[in-house]
Amino acid sequence: MIVTRFAPSPTGRLHVGHAYSALFAYRMAQEAGGKFILRIEDIDPVRCHKEFEHGIYEDLGWLGLDWEKPVRRQSDHMDEYSTALTKLQNRGLLYPCFCTRKDIREEVERSGHAPHGPEGLLYPGLCKGLSDDERAAKIASGIPYAFRLDLDKALQEIKGPLTWVDRARGEQIATPEILGDAVLARKDIQTSYHLSVTIDDHVQGVTVVTRGDDLFYASHLHRLLQELLGLNVPEWHHHPFLTDEDGERLAKRNHAITIQHYREAEGKTPQDIMEMIGL
Ligand code: GLU
Repeated sequence: MIVTRFAPSPTGRLHVGHAYSALFAYRMAQEAGGKFILRIEDIDPVRCHKEFEHGIYEDLGWLGLDWEKPVRRQSDHMDEYSTALTKLQNRGLLYPCFCTRKDIREEVERSGHAPHGPEGLLYPGLCKGLSDDERAAKIASGIPYAFRLDLDKALQEIKGPLTWVDRARGEQIATPEILGDAVLARKDIQTSYHLSVTIDDHVQGVTVVTRGDDLFYASHLHRLLQELLGLNVPEWHHHPFLTDEDGERLAKRNHAITIQHYREAEGKTPQDIMEMIGL
Protein backbone atom coordinates (compact mmCIF):
# COMPACT_ATOMS: atom_id res chain seq x y z
CA MET A 1 0.00 0.00 0.00
CA ILE A 2 1.22 3.48 -0.84
CA VAL A 3 1.79 5.67 2.20
CA THR A 4 2.64 9.34 1.67
CA ARG A 5 3.11 12.14 4.12
CA PHE A 6 3.20 15.89 4.52
CA ALA A 7 5.59 16.95 7.27
CA PRO A 8 5.44 20.67 7.98
CA SER A 9 7.29 22.47 10.74
CA PRO A 10 4.95 24.67 12.77
CA THR A 11 7.13 27.76 12.45
CA GLY A 12 4.48 29.91 10.76
CA ARG A 13 1.14 29.72 8.96
CA LEU A 14 0.92 27.63 5.80
CA HIS A 15 1.14 29.36 2.43
CA VAL A 16 0.16 28.13 -1.00
CA GLY A 17 3.50 26.37 -1.52
CA HIS A 18 2.70 24.21 1.51
CA ALA A 19 -0.82 23.62 0.22
CA TYR A 20 0.67 22.36 -3.03
CA SER A 21 3.02 20.00 -1.22
CA ALA A 22 0.28 18.69 1.06
CA LEU A 23 -2.12 18.12 -1.84
CA PHE A 24 0.59 16.49 -3.90
CA ALA A 25 1.06 13.86 -1.20
CA TYR A 26 -2.64 13.58 -0.41
CA ARG A 27 -3.69 12.99 -3.99
CA MET A 28 -0.94 10.49 -4.65
CA ALA A 29 -2.20 8.42 -1.74
CA GLN A 30 -5.85 8.81 -2.71
CA GLU A 31 -5.31 7.88 -6.34
CA ALA A 32 -3.49 4.71 -5.29
CA GLY A 33 -6.02 3.80 -2.60
CA GLY A 34 -3.26 4.34 -0.06
CA LYS A 35 -2.79 6.31 3.13
CA PHE A 36 -1.83 9.93 3.73
CA ILE A 37 -0.06 10.91 6.93
CA LEU A 38 0.36 14.34 8.46
CA ARG A 39 3.39 14.73 10.72
CA ILE A 40 4.36 17.74 12.79
CA GLU A 41 8.11 18.40 12.67
CA ASP A 42 8.57 20.36 15.86
CA ILE A 43 12.01 19.44 17.15
CA ASP A 44 13.02 23.10 17.40
CA PRO A 45 11.33 24.48 20.52
CA VAL A 46 12.38 28.05 19.75
CA ARG A 47 10.95 28.30 16.24
CA CYS A 48 7.93 25.99 16.60
CA HIS A 49 4.70 27.10 18.22
CA LYS A 50 1.48 25.34 19.18
CA GLU A 51 -0.60 28.05 17.58
CA PHE A 52 1.01 27.29 14.21
CA GLU A 53 0.39 23.58 14.70
CA HIS A 54 -3.30 24.36 15.20
CA GLY A 55 -3.14 26.59 12.14
CA ILE A 56 -1.86 23.63 10.09
CA TYR A 57 -4.84 21.50 11.14
CA GLU A 58 -7.22 24.35 10.46
CA ASP A 59 -5.89 25.17 7.00
CA LEU A 60 -5.53 21.58 5.79
CA GLY A 61 -8.99 20.70 7.10
CA TRP A 62 -10.42 23.72 5.30
CA LEU A 63 -8.73 22.57 2.09
CA GLY A 64 -10.59 19.28 2.45
CA LEU A 65 -7.74 17.01 3.55
CA ASP A 66 -8.09 14.42 6.25
CA TRP A 67 -5.44 12.33 7.93
CA GLU A 68 -4.82 9.63 10.47
CA LYS A 69 -5.00 10.63 14.12
CA PRO A 70 -3.29 10.97 16.48
CA VAL A 71 -0.76 12.93 14.51
CA ARG A 72 2.88 12.10 15.19
CA ARG A 73 4.71 15.06 16.66
CA GLN A 74 8.47 14.80 16.62
CA SER A 75 8.82 16.43 20.02
CA ASP A 76 7.06 13.39 21.53
CA HIS A 77 9.69 11.02 20.18
CA MET A 78 13.03 12.48 21.20
CA ASP A 79 13.94 9.20 22.93
CA GLU A 80 13.73 7.33 19.60
CA TYR A 81 16.12 9.78 17.95
CA SER A 82 18.46 9.51 20.87
CA THR A 83 18.46 5.68 20.68
CA ALA A 84 19.43 5.84 17.01
CA LEU A 85 22.12 8.37 17.76
CA THR A 86 23.58 6.15 20.45
CA LYS A 87 23.69 3.23 18.00
CA LEU A 88 25.71 5.28 15.54
CA GLN A 89 27.90 6.61 18.30
CA ASN A 90 28.69 3.15 19.65
CA ARG A 91 29.93 2.18 16.21
CA GLY A 92 32.28 5.16 16.14
CA LEU A 93 30.37 6.85 13.33
CA LEU A 94 29.85 10.17 15.13
CA TYR A 95 32.14 12.71 16.68
CA PRO A 96 31.41 15.66 18.93
CA CYS A 97 31.87 19.03 17.28
CA PHE A 98 32.48 22.07 19.45
CA CYS A 99 32.80 24.57 16.61
CA THR A 100 30.85 27.77 16.38
CA ARG A 101 29.97 29.21 12.98
CA LYS A 102 32.77 31.69 13.56
CA ASP A 103 35.32 28.90 14.16
CA ILE A 104 34.29 27.30 10.88
CA ARG A 105 34.49 30.58 8.97
CA GLU A 106 37.91 31.34 10.37
CA GLU A 107 39.23 27.89 9.55
CA VAL A 108 38.01 28.23 5.99
CA GLU A 109 39.66 31.65 5.63
CA ARG A 110 42.88 30.30 7.12
CA SER A 111 43.03 27.29 4.82
CA GLY A 112 41.84 29.17 1.75
CA HIS A 113 39.73 26.14 0.93
CA ALA A 114 35.96 26.55 1.00
CA PRO A 115 34.02 23.61 -0.45
CA HIS A 116 30.30 24.33 -0.47
CA GLY A 117 27.30 22.05 -0.45
CA PRO A 118 23.62 22.88 -0.81
CA GLU A 119 23.43 23.79 2.88
CA GLY A 120 26.42 26.13 2.69
CA LEU A 121 30.01 25.55 3.68
CA LEU A 122 31.05 21.96 4.16
CA TYR A 123 32.49 21.31 7.58
CA PRO A 124 36.28 21.63 7.35
CA GLY A 125 36.87 18.88 9.90
CA LEU A 126 38.32 20.89 12.79
CA CYS A 127 36.96 18.60 15.50
CA LYS A 128 37.38 15.38 13.57
CA GLY A 129 40.97 14.87 14.59
CA LEU A 130 40.62 15.61 18.31
CA SER A 131 41.92 12.90 20.62
CA ASP A 132 39.65 11.22 23.14
CA ASP A 133 41.35 13.20 25.91
CA GLU A 134 40.83 16.51 24.12
CA ARG A 135 37.18 15.67 23.60
CA ALA A 136 36.70 14.65 27.20
CA ALA A 137 38.37 17.86 28.42
CA LYS A 138 36.17 20.05 26.26
CA ILE A 139 33.02 18.23 27.32
CA ALA A 140 34.06 18.46 30.97
CA SER A 141 34.60 22.20 30.65
CA GLY A 142 31.00 22.61 29.50
CA ILE A 143 31.55 23.68 25.88
CA PRO A 144 28.34 22.88 24.00
CA TYR A 145 28.72 20.37 21.20
CA ALA A 146 26.87 18.85 18.29
CA PHE A 147 27.35 15.36 16.88
CA ARG A 148 28.53 15.05 13.30
CA LEU A 149 28.50 12.01 11.09
CA ASP A 150 32.01 10.81 10.30
CA LEU A 151 31.29 10.31 6.64
CA ASP A 152 34.55 8.51 5.83
CA LYS A 153 33.87 5.89 8.48
CA ALA A 154 30.21 5.64 7.55
CA LEU A 155 31.04 4.99 3.91
CA GLN A 156 33.49 2.29 4.92
CA GLU A 157 30.57 0.37 6.43
CA ILE A 158 28.63 0.45 3.19
CA LYS A 159 29.06 -2.29 0.65
CA GLY A 160 28.75 -1.11 -2.92
CA PRO A 161 27.09 2.07 -4.16
CA LEU A 162 23.78 3.01 -2.57
CA THR A 163 20.96 3.75 -4.93
CA TRP A 164 17.54 5.29 -4.49
CA VAL A 165 14.62 6.06 -6.73
CA ASP A 166 13.15 9.47 -7.36
CA ARG A 167 9.85 9.01 -9.16
CA ALA A 168 10.42 12.15 -11.19
CA ARG A 169 14.13 11.80 -11.96
CA GLY A 170 14.68 8.06 -11.96
CA GLU A 171 17.32 5.98 -10.19
CA GLN A 172 19.94 7.91 -8.28
CA ILE A 173 23.30 6.95 -6.86
CA ALA A 174 23.55 8.33 -3.35
CA THR A 175 26.24 10.96 -2.96
CA PRO A 176 26.04 11.92 0.72
CA GLU A 177 29.42 13.63 0.36
CA ILE A 178 27.57 16.68 -0.95
CA LEU A 179 26.71 17.37 2.69
CA GLY A 180 30.06 16.41 4.17
CA ASP A 181 30.14 15.54 7.87
CA ALA A 182 26.56 16.62 8.51
CA VAL A 183 25.27 17.47 11.97
CA LEU A 184 23.02 14.66 13.18
CA ALA A 185 22.42 16.12 16.62
CA ARG A 186 22.34 19.86 17.04
CA LYS A 187 23.92 21.47 20.09
CA ASP A 188 20.58 22.74 21.33
CA ILE A 189 18.22 19.84 20.62
CA GLN A 190 20.21 16.56 20.47
CA THR A 191 18.68 15.59 17.14
CA SER A 192 18.44 17.09 13.68
CA TYR A 193 16.08 17.33 10.76
CA HIS A 194 18.02 14.62 8.90
CA LEU A 195 17.97 12.07 11.69
CA SER A 196 14.39 12.64 12.83
CA VAL A 197 12.83 12.62 9.40
CA THR A 198 14.58 9.41 8.39
CA ILE A 199 13.46 7.59 11.51
CA ASP A 200 9.90 8.90 11.32
CA ASP A 201 9.42 7.87 7.71
CA HIS A 202 10.52 4.37 8.69
CA VAL A 203 8.41 4.15 11.84
CA GLN A 204 5.34 5.45 10.02
CA GLY A 205 5.77 3.07 7.08
CA VAL A 206 6.03 5.84 4.51
CA THR A 207 6.56 4.32 1.06
CA VAL A 208 6.84 7.50 -1.02
CA VAL A 209 8.51 10.55 0.49
CA THR A 210 7.11 13.55 -1.35
CA ARG A 211 8.59 17.00 -0.81
CA GLY A 212 9.95 20.01 -2.64
CA ASP A 213 13.00 19.93 -4.87
CA ASP A 214 14.92 21.98 -2.31
CA LEU A 215 15.34 18.83 -0.23
CA PHE A 216 16.55 16.63 -3.08
CA TYR A 217 20.12 16.80 -1.76
CA ALA A 218 18.98 15.71 1.71
CA SER A 219 17.70 12.39 0.36
CA HIS A 220 21.29 11.37 -0.46
CA LEU A 221 22.14 11.58 3.21
CA HIS A 222 18.85 10.01 4.30
CA ARG A 223 19.55 7.01 2.08
CA LEU A 224 22.88 6.55 3.84
CA LEU A 225 21.29 6.88 7.28
CA GLN A 226 18.71 4.24 6.34
CA GLU A 227 21.50 1.87 5.41
CA LEU A 228 23.47 2.54 8.59
CA LEU A 229 20.43 2.15 10.83
CA GLY A 230 18.81 -0.75 8.97
CA LEU A 231 15.66 1.23 8.09
CA ASN A 232 13.18 0.74 5.26
CA VAL A 233 14.05 2.42 1.99
CA PRO A 234 11.08 4.26 0.49
CA GLU A 235 10.85 5.89 -2.91
CA TRP A 236 10.97 9.65 -3.20
CA HIS A 237 9.19 12.16 -5.37
CA HIS A 238 10.66 15.64 -5.22
CA HIS A 239 8.34 18.13 -6.81
CA PRO A 240 9.15 21.53 -8.27
CA PHE A 241 8.26 24.64 -6.35
CA LEU A 242 5.44 26.95 -7.12
CA THR A 243 6.79 30.25 -8.28
CA ASP A 244 5.14 33.64 -8.70
CA GLU A 245 5.02 35.64 -11.94
CA ASP A 246 8.65 36.72 -11.44
CA GLY A 247 9.83 33.18 -10.94
CA GLU A 248 10.37 33.84 -7.25
CA ARG A 249 9.70 30.83 -5.03
CA LEU A 250 6.40 31.19 -3.22
CA ALA A 251 7.84 29.40 -0.25
CA LYS A 252 10.09 32.36 0.57
CA ARG A 253 8.91 33.00 4.09
CA ASN A 254 8.32 36.72 3.94
CA HIS A 255 6.77 37.01 0.53
CA ALA A 256 4.33 34.18 0.91
CA ILE A 257 0.70 34.98 1.46
CA THR A 258 -0.80 32.58 3.94
CA ILE A 259 -3.82 30.36 3.39
CA GLN A 260 -5.35 32.01 6.43
CA HIS A 261 -5.04 35.42 4.78
CA TYR A 262 -6.61 34.22 1.54
CA ARG A 263 -9.48 32.68 3.50
CA GLU A 264 -10.13 35.36 6.10
CA ALA A 265 -9.05 38.60 4.46
CA GLU A 266 -9.76 37.85 0.82
CA GLY A 267 -12.72 35.48 1.15
CA LYS A 268 -11.15 32.86 -1.13
CA THR A 269 -12.58 29.34 -1.26
CA PRO A 270 -10.66 26.06 -1.21
CA GLN A 271 -11.47 25.82 -4.93
CA ASP A 272 -9.75 29.19 -5.49
CA ILE A 273 -6.62 27.86 -3.78
CA MET A 274 -6.68 24.69 -5.92
CA GLU A 275 -6.81 26.82 -9.03
CA MET A 276 -4.02 29.02 -7.77
CA ILE A 277 -1.73 26.04 -7.33
CA GLY A 278 -2.86 24.36 -10.52
CA LEU A 279 -4.31 21.22 -8.94
N1 GLU B 1 9.69 19.75 7.98
C1 GLU B 1 10.27 20.09 6.72
C2 GLU B 1 9.85 21.47 6.30
O1 GLU B 1 8.84 21.97 6.76
C3 GLU B 1 9.89 19.15 5.61
C4 GLU B 1 10.58 17.89 5.72
C5 GLU B 1 10.30 16.83 4.68
O2 GLU B 1 9.29 16.87 3.99
O3 GLU B 1 11.11 15.93 4.64
O4 GLU B 1 10.54 22.05 5.49
